[in-house]
Amino acid sequence: MTDNNGLDPEFLRTIGGQRVLVRSDLNVPLDGTTITDDGRIRASVPTIRALAEAGARVVVTAHLGRPKGEPDPAYSLGPVAVRLAELLGAPVAFATDTVGASAQEVVAALGDGQVALLENVRFNAGETSKDDAERGAFADQLAGLADAFVSDGFGVVHRKQASVYDVAQRLPHTMGALVAAEIDVLRRLTDDPARPYAVVLGGSKVSDKLGVIDNLLGKADKLLIGGGMVFTFLKADGLEVGKSLLEEDQLDTVRAYRARAAELGVEILVPTDIVVADSFGDEASARVVPATEIPADALGLDIGPESAAAFAAALADARTVFWNGPMGVFEQLAFAEGTRAVAKALTAIDGLSVVGGGDSAAAVRTLGFDEAAFGHISTGGGASLEYLEGKDLPGITVLED
Ligand code: ADP
Ligand code: MG
Repeated sequence: MTDNNGLDPEFLRTIGGQRVLVRSDLNVPLDGTTITDDGRIRASVPTIRALAEAGARVVVTAHLGRPKGEPDPAYSLGPVAVRLAELLGAPVAFATDTVGASAQEVVAALGDGQVALLENVRFNAGETSKDDAERGAFADQLAGLADAFVSDGFGVVHRKQASVYDVAQRLPHTMGALVAAEIDVLRRLTDDPARPYAVVLGGSKVSDKLGVIDNLLGKADKLLIGGGMVFTFLKADGLEVGKSLLEEDQLDTVRAYRARAAELGVEILVPTDIVVADSFGDEASARVVPATEIPADALGLDIGPESAAAFAAALADARTVFWNGPMGVFEQLAFAEGTRAVAKALTAIDGLSVVGGGDSAAAVRTLGFDEAAFGHISTGGGASLEYLEGKDLPGITVLED
């Protein structure tokens, strides 16, 4: 697994002179045509380079943003092709369509060890279609461009999409280095993790993340809850949460989690103080209140200093930590301290510390932490969560057939 950057050596031996389609995750944030964070491109380079060095004709496919199944210049991968070439230190031929005349031409012109990038795969309605036949027809076209397939877009392996799932059914295939590394870490979080095992959950997608609690209750020793979802917990405990994020329809679910946690001896930590403001993002009105005294006309935007210290203390002896979701609205300094405290605690873990989720990873970077201080920073939040929920990831299962 560790040789060849995690790519199957047997696969690499057979690939010289072959056209290899690689699904990468190059979905980077753009400001106009400027890439504001190239982390995902960097993470994709090792697999692309290993295939090129093995003499393959590498055809990269990826998406950017959420175009509506047709070409939209605002979501062109053109700027990504330029950055990818810089990072590879080699030219990248860019096809201005995904499976059309330009793609055919660019792929036909590739020499051994050369790399091409196809235009945004989501410019084609077949990519994300729920209709198996429509998706399959597009996958046939994609598969027609190559002799083999490498799945390396970890951020999309939980999606049953043409370039992730259907294409793997049509070509000899293997896992890319990035996907292999991510799955390896996720296995360490689920199969016999070193204890104590603590899970920290926050962020804004409350119901998305409640699902993961269900599965982790049987595995983790401690659950630390912050971010937007904490107010559903506080409300379930009978507290007033003002105008904070709240999912009323999840109150019973949360109460059931509490009961199961008590039964299993799993500790659930919620904050005892909260940074509130009069309206969303109003830094001037930020103030700390006890969690039992959230004013009816205010909303909670971070865990308070007492809670941040308690969370850090609860993490100090952990040997395995998984963290997904910022503790507060870290994009604004007045609400960033809870997230900073948790990130700092993770850097001091004697064991495996894993950060999952796009915004959590961005928080670590924007708050100035050294990424190397964490055991692993995952490139795919949704995929990690679904794995930890115990769900099948279609893009992984399809590789096992
Ligand atoms: P990730 O991408 O790491 O999985 P999410 O997308 O679930 O995380 O959530 C990230 C967002 O959650 C951030 O933009 C942050 O501002 C927001 N957030 C955190 N705490 C709160 C809160 N108390 N109220 C509203 N939004 C919050
Ligand atoms: Mg997010």
